[in-house]
Amino acid sequence: MNQSLPPSSLWHPYAQMLTSPTAPTVVGGEGARFHLQGGETLIDATCSWWCMIHGYGHPRLVKAIKDQADTLCHVMLGGLSHEPAQRLADTLVRITPAGLNHVFFSDSGSVGMEVAMKMAVQYQVQRGQPEKHRMLSLMGAYHGDTTGCMAVCDPEEGMHALFAGFLPRHHFAPAPRAGYHATREAIDTDIAALRATLERCHTETAALLMEPMLQAAGGLNMTSPAYVRAARELCDEFDILLIFDEVATGFGRTGKLFAAEHAGVTPDIMVLSKGLTGGYLGHAATLATSSVFAAFLSDDPGRAFMHGPTFMGNPLACRVALESLAVFEEEAYLDKIAGLNTILREELQEDGDLIGNSRIADVRVLGATAVIEVHDDADLDGAQAFARSRGVWLRPFGRWLYTMPAYVTTHDEMRRITGVMKDWFATTSSSH
Ligand SMILES: *Cc1c(COP(=O)(O)O)cnc(C)c1O
Repeated sequence: MNQSLPPSSLWHPYAQMLTSPTAPTVVGGEGARFHLQGGETLIDATCSWWCMIHGYGHPRLVKAIKDQADTLCHVMLGGLSHEPAQRLADTLVRITPAGLNHVFFSDSGSVGMEVAMKMAVQYQVQRGQPEKHRMLSLMGAYHGDTTGCMAVCDPEEGMHALFAGFLPRHHFAPAPRAGYHATREAIDTDIAALRATLERCHTETAALLMEPMLQAAGGLNMTSPAYVRAARELCDEFDILLIFDEVATGFGRTGKLFAAEHAGVTPDIMVLSKGLTGGYLGHAATLATSSVFAAFLSDDPGRAFMHGPTFMGNPLACRVALESLAVFEEEAYLDKIAGLNTILREELQEDGDLIGNSRIADVRVLGATAVIEVHDDADLDGAQAFARSRGVWLRPFGRWLYTMPAYVTTHDEMRRITGVMKDWFATTSSSH
């Protein structure tokens, strides 16, 4: 029996270890490219699960980590403080939507979301509304892989259906389907569906969770600013908190620094991770408004927020996050993102061949994100190997062939990525 086991000691994520091809070994990289053992170089069209926004081997980020390592690698935030965490908290308060004034750190996007949900439930308890103890999430949502997060991912299409009997039950509203430029009528249909769900469940709901503007791992579904604004108004009307999961959308991915800015909305709680450190170390931040924070202030120690990941506010992570944000501002990354967006729209959305291809259901572009959605996921079988043979690292999932490039991707590299995405459909059309 043992002999038939694959030899790998390293268990890869989302991988059938018996049948998956051996994962190529990355030995280094710079800019949008990484190098494989054996000499191959690939342009990373995914920037490593969307977090390596400055690309690989960025000199300033590497130096920030080295400098901080010389000073202080770690100290707990339990009863102690340090400058990188204080400065990063101040900076995040400055750059996020007005009103988010308090920052709770943790070590990953999933834990940042767990913190947000726990904060929302305790907030409701401390306001005398303990019956408001469930979440309202959206179909198509992805909020992470820890059990609390699994329970608010799309229960049908998400990756966690197997665990349905194990997870707490929450409420779900239909996924908003009207895109960025949708008609008012289509948007109103989405909003009406959210309202109808809220009318049913608000008395036992602590918070509405959403990935504003872009449901990422749930299929790169893009929504409208009007929907996000309506979500804010409905949460106020039904007296529940609004939590924005900006783990994927934060730090420029949708074309604004934060997706909330498309709608001019401040959520009550907002979660950041992926791009926070430029991808150089795992970290997350859960931000709260003063009104949420105030609900935890009391003479009674039992009303404190009883949470504290060991590595929260790690100095190395905070220091590299500060450097990442400095580079982002000094080098006008929002302009770089706008440049990439122009290419994505020209090459993918305005391309006659893609529009006319019957296997393609939709092409969507927002900020530095583009996706070609097919009708049948079998149509993407082999796309990854095809891209690799042309020097590009793509990682399609389900029915979605997408790119979320590093913002330092050159225009030439961006066109090579879109070229490979288009060529896949041109080259394989005859075989289907
Ligand atoms: C990736 C992601 C998470 C989970 O973050 P991890 O760091 O992988 O735990 C949560 N929400 C969204 C929207 C994400 O894209």
